[in-house]
Amino acid sequence: MLELLTAAGCKQVPWGERADIYLVNTCTVTNIADKKSRNMIRRAIGQNPDGVVCVCGCLAQKERQKLLDELGVSAVIGTEDRCGIVRIVRDCLAGKHVNAVRDIAAAREFEALGVKTSGELTRGYIKIQEGCGNFCSYCIIPYVRGPVRSRPAESILGEARALAEGGVREVVLTGIHISSYGQDGGESLLAMLGGLAQVKGVVRIRLGSMEPPVFTEGFARALSGIKKVCPHFHVSLQSGSAGVLLRMNRKYTPGEYKGFLRNIRKYYDAPAITTDVITGFPGETEEEFLETARFVQDAGFARLHVFPYSEREGTPAAKMGGRVPPDVRKARAKQLAEMGETLLNRYRDQFAGTKQLVLFEQERGGHSYGYTDRYVRVRAAGGYAGQMKKVLLAAAHGAIMEATIIEGE
Ligand code: SF4
Repeated sequence: MLELLTAAGCKQVPWGERADIYLVNTCTVTNIADKKSRNMIRRAIGQNPDGVVCVCGCLAQKERQKLLDELGVSAVIGTEDRCGIVRIVRDCLAGKHVNAVRDIAAAREFEALGVKTSGELTRGYIKIQEGCGNFCSYCIIPYVRGPVRSRPAESILGEARALAEGGVREVVLTGIHISSYGQDGGESLLAMLGGLAQVKGVVRIRLGSMEPPVFTEGFARALSGIKKVCPHFHVSLQSGSAGVLLRMNRKYTPGEYKGFLRNIRKYYDAPAITTDVITGFPGETEEEFLETARFVQDAGFARLHVFPYSEREGTPAAKMGGRVPPDVRKARAKQLAEMGETLLNRYRDQFAGTKQLVLFEQERGGHSYGYTDRYVRVRAAGGYAGQMKKVLLAAAHGAIMEATIIEGE
C-alpha cells in the first residue's frame, strides 16, 4: 500500500509528524491486539483531527461499522481490496466516508499486493497465500481472512525476480497457512518452490510456519531435493497432549506429530525445527501440561515460542468450560520458556567448530551480523553486509555465535 500511495505522489513522514493521511493496519488475533489497534486509531485521529484515517486489516474486517460509527474513521478496508487504496484515499479526501470491506467468506482469488523492494538488505518476504480453513477452536483467523486462496506461481516468481534484482538473496515465504498452498486448485507448493529455486540471485528460500500434517515422507523427500530450501522449519505443535489437541481441533495426534518430525529428520541433517506452544488452554489439567512438557523435552526443538492461552471472543474455545486461571497459564508458559532456552543453547552449541555458510545482513561497530541456513545468528569482525561467506563457528556469545571468515562466496 505504501508503494501504491508513493507512486500516486504521497510522501511518507515519520510517526509523530502531522500527516494528511493515516493508514492503520490492524490486527485482531487476540483481545489485546484489538485494544492496541483501537488505541493506534485514536492516536492517529488525535494527531490530526482533520486528516484522513483509513483503517485496514483484520479488525476492520470484523468491526467495520463500529469503527465508522464509534471512532468516526474515514474509511474501513478489510483484508481484501487493499489494491484500491489510492482510489479510497481520494474519495476520503473528497469528503466521503468509505466502507470497502467485502464478504470475506466469499473471496476466491488471491489479491496480489506485491512489492518491488524489500525493507531489508538481503531478505525479502513474499506472501504466497491467504486464508485458512482449519478452524482451530482458539483462532479467529479463518473468520477474518476467509478461505484458502493461493497466489499464482508466476506472480510469486515475478516478485522474487524483482526482489533479487534489488539485491535480495533470501526469500521468506509467508501466508496464513502456507502448507495449504494449492489446495484451492491449480497450483502446487513443490512445483512453485522448484520454480523459485531457478530464480537468478535467490540463494536461499525460507519457509514460514507450516502445519504439521504437510510433512509426509513423500513431501519431506521431495522438499529436500530443492536444495535452496533452508533446513529450518516452523512446525506449530500447540500442545503435546492428545486431549488438548482434540479440543483445539488440531488435525494430528502427538504420535502423528512425532512421525512428521521423523520424516523431516530422515531427509535433513540437524534441521532447525521450531514451534509454538499454548499453555493453559481450557480444561488443560496438570497432567496434560506435563505431557506437553515431556513432549517438548523429547522432540529436540531448536526454538520454542510459548504463549499463555488468551480468550478470543467469537471462537468456540472462548465458550468452553474448564477455564485455567491466568496465573497458572503464565506459570506453565514460564516453565516451558525456560526449557526452550536450554533447547536453543543445546541446538546452537552443536555447531561450534563447524564450517557454515552465512548470509550477512547488517554491519555495526566493526562487525557483520547474519544467519546460517538453520537460522543460527552469527557475528564476524569486518564488513560483509549483503555477502554470503563461509565461516568457522566458535563458541556462542550470548545468543550469537562468533565466526571467522574462511572463504568468499
Ligand atoms: S491453522 Fe493457524 S491460522 Fe488456521 S485456524 Fe489454526 S491457528 Fe488459525
